[in-house]
Amino acid sequence: MVRNGAAMNFALKEEQQLIQDTAKRFAAEEIAPTLEQEERQHAFKPERVAKMGELGFFSCALPEELGGSGMGFMESVLMAEQIAKVSASWRLPFNMQNLGPALTVTKFGTSEQKKKYVPGWVDGTQLGFFAMTEPNTGSDVASMKTLAVDKGDHFEIHGNKMWISQAHVGDAGLLYAFTDKSKGNKGMTAFIIEPKKMKGCTARPIDTKLGLHCAPTGEFVFEGMQVPKENVLGQVGEGFRVCMWQLNQTRLGCAAGALGVAGGALDLAINYAKDRTQFGKPISQHQMVQAQIAEMTVEHQSAQMLVYRAAWLKDQGKPSQYETSVAKLAASEAAVHAANECMKIFGSYGFSTEYPAERFYRDAKSLQVVEGTSNIQKIIISGMACGYTPNRE
Ligand SMILES: Cc1cc2nc3c(=O)[nH]c(=O)nc-3n(C[C@H](O)[C@H](O)[C@H](O)COP(=O)(O)OP(=O)(O)OC[C@H]3O[C@@H](n4cnc5c(N)ncnc54)[C@H](O)[C@@H]3O)c2cc1C
Repeated sequence: MVRNGAAMNFALKEEQQLIQDTAKRFAAEEIAPTLEQEERQHAFKPERVAKMGELGFFSCALPEELGGSGMGFMESVLMAEQIAKVSASWRLPFNMQNLGPALTVTKFGTSEQKKKYVPGWVDGTQLGFFAMTEPNTGSDVASMKTLAVDKGDHFEIHGNKMWISQAHVGDAGLLYAFTDKSKGNKGMTAFIIEPKKMKGCTARPIDTKLGLHCAPTGEFVFEGMQVPKENVLGQVGEGFRVCMWQLNQTRLGCAAGALGVAGGALDLAINYAKDRTQFGKPISQHQMVQAQIAEMTVEHQSAQMLVYRAAWLKDQGKPSQYETSVAKLAASEAAVHAANECMKIFGSYGFSTEYPAERFYRDAKSLQVVEGTSNIQKIIISGMACGYTPNRE
């Protein structure tokens, strides 16, 4: 560590530093010791999600009666960042439990829905997810094909969802589908589904991922899955708005994860560069390696300020869509660059699966894709900067 720890720390309160330390310790003691073995086995541990829940990791921005602990987005970011510094996979539950399902149901749900679902996501005993992506629908969310047909007292779901984190292990989560395709964006509806309980749903794992091996990803096939009407989230036809609102929260979680990966790769590179000697001195004293470390440092610290700013705005209840996209783009690009440079600094060892540099790189690549690709962030940012795109919050 060459950093003096001052990066934005001036803004952290004592309790926030304690929370940061708790997450750092959790990552060091509960994740790191068995991580490489779990990575090789593609192992996911639901009991670890529950343990994170027990520690309050998924309680951000929620009222006390639903499991909230007075923590806000800033605390969530601080924790997710520390976890991702060790394992990008284990950052995902922040989105799958708290920032995705729990916050969205708290915002749009009925009091029955909130009471029934939110506490289980917050304490980590019910694994959550959110499903918008399909085999032929990614960035263009409104082009999704999944249909929800009104059958009187329930909706019948037909279609496929793909690339869904925690799909095949999920207990309850969010599904976006069209109730009336002819109405365009206004014909989409959000649902709370329980795939293990509702008949007509098959979930399968996707085992071919490049990275994030400890974060399960899967697909859903819906063949007439019956969803009771009381499981409509928000109003029928309001799904696109719900989806955009949700993405504005989960995008921050992704940015926090990217920040962690960038910081983790930077620390790893610095330690190695100080240790590895070539041409009679540590490689950290060769000018080109110094330039690499300096660039990684600047990108990491810039991203950190942007991510913290977006979290702070959300905690103030201020519009944050633009700043969240700026943070997500900056942090995910910084993560990929840092991991790439880290691999180079490691030389041959960077190319070896016995060292974590290549894992950082494989995991970082996902961050340029999820919660809206880098191109999609650029469209949002430039659209809002030019005044063409409205704030959708
Ligand atoms: C590990 C992992 C976990 C995921 N978890 C979830 C999840 O939990 N829930 C969920 O719903 N989805 C999830 N996804 C899916 C992810 O959100 C989508 O993959 C992402 O939105 C991009 O969609 P796509 O892959 O279909 O790419 P496409 O939309 O087909 O894009 C392909 C390329 O075209 C570019 N492109 C597309 N449109 C434009 C445009 N208008 N202008 C410029 N360039 C454009 C993109 O930037 C990209 O480079 C996950 C994906 C991964 C890899």
